Amino acid sequence: MTKQVNSSTKDNKTDTLRSIDLFVLDMDGTIYLGERVFPVAVEFVAKAKSLGKKIIYFTNNASKNPDIYYQKLLNMGFDAERSEIVTSGDVTAEYLIKSYPGQPVYLVGTPALEQSFLSYGIKLSENSDIVVSSFDTTLTYKKLETACNLIRSGAVFLSTHPDFNCPTENGFIPDSGAINALITASTGVVPKYFGKPHRETADMISAVSGIPLERTAIVGDRLYTDIALGKNNGMTSVLVLTGETKIEDINDDNSPDICLNDIGEIIPFLN
Ligand SMILES: [Mg+2]
Repeated sequence: MTKQVNSSTKDNKTDTLRSIDLFVLDMDGTIYLGERVFPVAVEFVAKAKSLGKKIIYFTNNASKNPDIYYQKLLNMGFDAERSEIVTSGDVTAEYLIKSYPGQPVYLVGTPALEQSFLSYGIKLSENSDIVVSSFDTTLTYKKLETACNLIRSGAVFLSTHPDFNCPTENGFIPDSGAINALITASTGVVPKYFGKPHRETADMISAVSGIPLERTAIVGDRLYTDIALGKNNGMTSVLVLTGETKIEDINDDNSPDICLNDIGEIIPFLN
């Protein structure tokens, strides 16, 4: 069944958008696609901030650390602060230092994520009772072997985010969820996930911003991470059709509160 972006639905949600104090923006597919910036997104951020709204840029992609995203956003012309950028790696690191203080972690992740964990004071070791896997573009068979052996010996299995594929200019490449599927096939153990759409991400967003979730909107292009984060945690969910979701992918179970062609369509509802 083909659906239309329904302007009457947008009108019904005007009041909801006017009550939003914090916009959490997914990045790839929402404010840019790969290296191509969406000018309406730059305009949206500038307008929202001029009206006193807060912005958090949140990505599940923990293969790069927030400093890399910060530089990318500045280069694209966004009004961004380093403190506004949060990744699923940050959510996972916060959980580790609270739930397993001082304990070493075996990380299946990129050097950028290793640096990020080290900056939180997390020790990294092959002798660990905790395995954390992520979108590891430096993955080796040795890392998989070590992770599986530790998990089979009883280590806790955590993962930064559940995404199966990462979009690139050349199509999809295997992401964290696909790597975890291999580890699960070998060990029979399913990881505990962080990032979108999980509760720990919503909690970190409200802690970082100081704004309650009922005055927060998540804007994103993916149903099972961005929109589900909003639906599962009491935030307003805004789907934009500039990334991976097509209107026919929406059904009664995954439907967002608001569906827009692009993020610029929020601008008239800011006040
Ligand atoms: Mg996206």
